[in-house]
Amino acid sequence: MNYRIGVDLGGTGIKAGVVDENFNIVCRESAATDAARRGFEQVVEDMVRVAEKAAAQIGLTLSDFPCVGVGTPSCISPKTGLLVFSNNTNWRNVPLRQELEKRIAAPVLIGNDANCAVVGECVAGAAKGYRDVVMFTLGTGVGSGIVIGGKMYAGADGMGAELGHTPLIYGGEPCTCGANGCAESYASVTGLIRDTKRAMERHPESAMHAHAALHGAVSGRTAFDCAKEGDLAALEVAERYCDYVAAVIAGAVSVFRPEIVLIGGGVSNAGAFLLDRLNERAVKRVFAGEIIGCAPIAAARLGNDAGIVGAAYLDQW
Ligand SMILES: [Zn+2]
Repeated sequence: MNYRIGVDLGGTGIKAGVVDENFNIVCRESAATDAARRGFEQVVEDMVRVAEKAAAQIGLTLSDFPCVGVGTPSCISPKTGLLVFSNNTNWRNVPLRQELEKRIAAPVLIGNDANCAVVGECVAGAAKGYRDVVMFTLGTGVGSGIVIGGKMYAGADGMGAELGHTPLIYGGEPCTCGANGCAESYASVTGLIRDTKRAMERHPESAMHAHAALHGAVSGRTAFDCAKEGDLAALEVAERYCDYVAAVIAGAVSVFRPEIVLIGGGVSNAGAFLLDRLNERAVKRVFAGEIIGCAPIAAARLGNDAGIVGAAYLDQW
């Protein structure tokens, strides 16, 4: 059996997984990232330790793997190995790959987490068998990954493929990147929650109040769950959210003409309610949609594992 290993460095946790030939994660290890209180080198030490412990579960060491792949939500230069900027850890220009390679006797590859996720879905998930794929991860932000002709596309020095920061509404809501009106300001769960709260203020009669009280907070589910139950204020929020996401998808499809578009992240749990609307609406917005249609929009399949699986296969994409 040939095994591979992927590491997911997130804002809260470091996760490592060993992936077998059937693309199943057969052993896992994790630890807290805690970058706010610890230096970069301590976090790197932990990444190595977590990967070693995962490998040890099946009697392997890191030198037994063809490479060690790392995915993290950051601007990363695959060429220089530099992590240029990370919101989560607040690191700037740290030599992530070099520091890992000092401690690991195998080649190390690093990539942005959304790029790893689309590779994971291509290797083992909902995009298996497709060569042209666009994936959106709708979470705290909007991550995106692009595969063109069977190769991951990340632009010059790996800094591109940020579809979450394409302009959606001129002069719109502020975005985490400093600009206004980005796709992310509307299509993220953060944007959805903001719009849900605003609708709740306008509609004290809405079932969303009871839903939020029952679940302890307003979440990305509040509007969708209540819309499915026929709450009018919730339906308005959910419909508008679907319009935003469909517009963002249509823009990407007009540029890249993928064979399939995948939606990952927590919002994809809204299921057919979301996907039916996206498929129906994106085709109306996409270039020449009435003549040549639009790629099918489907849910991603690997969930949080996509990052680890994709990182483990970064060298092939
Ligand atoms: Zn932005």
